[in-house]
Amino acid sequence: MAEKKVTKIGVLTSGGDAPGMNAAIRAVVRTGLYYGLEMFGVMRGYSGMIEDDIVPMNSRSVANIIQRGGTILKTARSAEFFELEGRKKAYENLKKRGIDGLVIIGGDGSFKGAQKFANEFDIPCIGLPGTIDKDIAGSDFTIGFDTAVNTAVEAIDKIRDTADAHDRLFIVEVMGRDAGYIALHSGIATGAENILIPETKTDIEAIIASLTEKEKRKKLVNLVVVAEGDKFGGGNEIGAILKNRLPNADIRVCILGHIQRGGSPSCLDRLIASRMGFASVECLLQGTHNVMVGIMNNKLHYTPLDNAVKAKQKISDDWLRIVKILAS
Ligand code: ATP
Repeated sequence: MAEKKVTKIGVLTSGGDAPGMNAAIRAVVRTGLYYGLEMFGVMRGYSGMIEDDIVPMNSRSVANIIQRGGTILKTARSAEFFELEGRKKAYENLKKRGIDGLVIIGGDGSFKGAQKFANEFDIPCIGLPGTIDKDIAGSDFTIGFDTAVNTAVEAIDKIRDTADAHDRLFIVEVMGRDAGYIALHSGIATGAENILIPETKTDIEAIIASLTEKEKRKKLVNLVVVAEGDKFGGGNEIGAILKNRLPNADIRVCILGHIQRGGSPSCLDRLIASRMGFASVECLLQGTHNVMVGIMNNKLHYTPLDNAVKAKQKISDDWLRIVKILAS
């Protein structure tokens, strides 16, 4: 049977917000309009689908947003969408408008929801990886990661200035949930002495030994970057242990927190969001359904939603060796 042609596309942002989501929405809407499709914005992720909060979008709806952080469609987590009943309501709301294709910009949780929805109902779904955590396989970058990591780098550089002025040891906690990419990239880029990430076992005794040795040779300015999801503990836990074990060191803890989510997206995030958004509409039109659009080795890469939800990116041993060697 020939593939049914998609004529009306809904776009939504779901899960945690990430800078660059607006650039992706803009690309989806403008590409759809270019191909003569009707475009709709679904407000507050899957909640808006269930509550029928869906608005028509034209070219002007996405004017002047490419440089803005957050998401004009708002984002949310929807408990109701976990239930078949909730997903049925969502389907009926799309159906009555004739929406026959969906683009979901979000993280792996959002893709799990999309995968279920696409399997249960006849609406193809395309996922775009929008998360600062970069914890999705099938793409070298996720929308928002580059901005978040640059925000972290800028903040850590400032912290190093004050650490340097006072000869302090700073423990900086960055975001990333159970992924260590923001910590790894920002830690390497700021010359952190130690980087603690959930992907590797934190050897606190080795860290204490190396800081003690540095103390002996009067290297008193040190930065420890810790991912919020490190299994050993976050910034406060590591700080308490180090304060206890290194009584002569002047130790401060800084939790960077939500500033990493906000702000104007970097050039890279705007570019990948535009490219992925454009590709998502082409996928729907060409019948490449229920995939996540990623970019691998600077080429568009399509991963079935099934695999995108199951796999996580791995951190290569090379990176971990680089950290060790450069932080001496
Ligand atoms: P981030 O990585 O930024 O947190 P995310 O997309 O992983 O983003 P989640 O909160 O995990 O964020 O998921 C977003 C929404 O997707 C959930 O609130 C829920 O509505 C839907 N969802 C997640 N997992 C499932 C699932 N297994 N079945 C149905 N819906 C799901």
